Amino acid sequence: MVPERCSIMVNGKVCTLPPSCIVSILSEKEEYMIGLVCVDHILLMKTKALSMQKSGKINKGKIRFQKVKPVMTDCILNLKDID
Ligand SMILES: [Zn+2]
Repeated sequence: MVPERCSIMVNGKVCTLPPSCIVSILSEKEEYMIGLVCVDHILLMKTKALSMQKSGKINKGKIRFQKVKPVMTDCILNLKDID
């Protein structure tokens, strides 16, 4: 399940802005998601990811930001309602 909010915490508070980018680490063979960020926190996330890589909490690799694709939830719901 994809969280609906930015995964950055500022001063102990979770950012409530909707995420606009998926953050993932591209290692030699695989890519894995480490979180989601809003536009305001892209740079902060990059800094955090770099320090996590330095301390060995996450794998080393390229930090990748991908735009979140818009989800057409309304369309899916409407289709389910049709008998
Ligand atoms: Zn944020």
